[in-house]
Amino acid sequence: MSQSRKLHVKSFGCQMNVYDSLRMADTLASEGFVETDTPEDAELVILNTCHIREKAAEKVYSELGRIRKLKEAAARDGRRVMIAVAGCVAQAEGEEIIRRAPAVDLVVGPQSYHRLPDLVARAASERIVDTEFPAEDKFDFLKGPSRDKTRARGVTAFVTVQEGCDKFCTFCVVPYTRGAEFSRPVAKIVAEIERLADAGVREVTLIGQNVNAYHGEGPDGRPWTLGELLHRVSTIGGIARLRYTTSHPSDMDETLIAAHRDLPCLMPYLHLPLQSGSDRILAAMNRRHTLGDYLAVITRMRAARSDLALSSDFIVGFPGETEEDFRASLEVVDQVGYAGAFSFKYSPRPGTPAATMEQVPEEVKAERLQRLQKAIDRNQAAFNAGCHGHTFDVLLEKPGRHAGQLVGRSPYLQPVQVMAPASLIGEIVPVTILEIASNSLFGELAAPAGRMANDDAAPTRGPAESNAGARGADAQARQQGRTRHASVREEGDVIAARA
Ligand code: SAM
Ligand code: SF4
Repeated sequence: MSQSRKLHVKSFGCQMNVYDSLRMADTLASEGFVETDTPEDAELVILNTCHIREKAAEKVYSELGRIRKLKEAAARDGRRVMIAVAGCVAQAEGEEIIRRAPAVDLVVGPQSYHRLPDLVARAASERIVDTEFPAEDKFDFLKGPSRDKTRARGVTAFVTVQEGCDKFCTFCVVPYTRGAEFSRPVAKIVAEIERLADAGVREVTLIGQNVNAYHGEGPDGRPWTLGELLHRVSTIGGIARLRYTTSHPSDMDETLIAAHRDLPCLMPYLHLPLQSGSDRILAAMNRRHTLGDYLAVITRMRAARSDLALSSDFIVGFPGETEEDFRASLEVVDQVGYAGAFSFKYSPRPGTPAATMEQVPEEVKAERLQRLQKAIDRNQAAFNAGCHGHTFDVLLEKPGRHAGQLVGRSPYLQPVQVMAPASLIGEIVPVTILEIASNSLFGELAAPAGRMANDDAAPTRGPAESNAGARGADAQARQQGRTRHASVREEGDVIAARA
């Protein structure tokens, strides 16, 4: 192994990029690169970029300006700093990046990360742009983290199971930057998650640009669905919670709905982007479903898992969107009662069909975005308020902001702050919610599971069966021969909520 060199990776955009950044760091670790949180002392800085909206792409160029100054300062001290641009901006803009930002040494698209050791070596003497879609599968070559590194990264992890997209929504760059849909084989995903579990990971989120289009090769040689994959992953010892994202409404098949019914470890929180409440706009977006289809999926999902909470993505000001179309989006927010949602102003992306359609004025987009965000915030606040007084299983992830406090996640992905000893990190414990703030819930460690079975009636807008997750995790823990609550009682602590 060569001498240790410092690497700083900055990730922009979605969870897929977060996962890719870790894999890049793991792959370069074998070349002697050690990660640093600060770009100032790095020898190699990688910006892992996002091209989904114009703002996201522009952020990269302003960050490059900052890193260029660091590179110049290092050069004055006789130190060489290499700058690499990875991710979807790299894929979409290629050579253009080097033209706009001459300090960049290497441009590498998402499908070539496994070639990084070679590319970095070559970039020492020449500028390199690699935005090919190579024939080999990068996942066969990307390195995984060591056990110690996995431990240090915490008790939750993302695992990419699917990449790319064949849907071609008219607003979206993903099919162009990430390429055609590809699913990893079941055996490789299982092996990766077994390694994570062995290092103490308790919760895994299976990710993909269109994750529920998953169709990876199963051990029996036929393509498995995401529902089947979730069943298999749920049997891996130590993994107590599963999530997946992001899904397309037309790919919610029966096996996936059944997985929500049958797998208590599959968390009752589903991110299912709708984009618009107007069928006219959904058709112009090439979303391949109507509002009615979407609501029918939700009805089936809720029949399978009554405590299911939903989130979504919405785009406002898509070309041709009228006030009436927009009102349909506003109405569906209240109709579904989302626990949360992301909303974006439509951003024309070069090369996509919608970019050449007649555009909605910027001020109209801005005004609609405000109105939509208000409706989303109102629904989110109602959902959170409905959690007050309920007891949820919380996976404790890391120390909170105050001494003695830990922060974890509810089944509905809400951050929950609780006073608890650090020895409980990685444990799933019952927490009674006592206080609701805008971005977090505050609670106290609750009585052992048996006492929670008679929790209060469900709130109207909040989680319908607040104990379902608790029961699920308990069952899972019993299956794994663990007594999750024992450690809580041993510490003898039913501790006050907020520090
Ligand atoms: N595959 C997911 C789906 O089918 O909904 C979406 C993945 S995309 C990376 C994340 C979100 O970015 C989309 O759901 C959409 O709301 C938003 N988005 C994508 N392209 C956009 C654009 N051109 N302008 C504004 N928002 C956009
Ligand atoms: Fe983009 Fe999602 Fe549509 Fe694929 S399904 S084109 S990733 S918005």
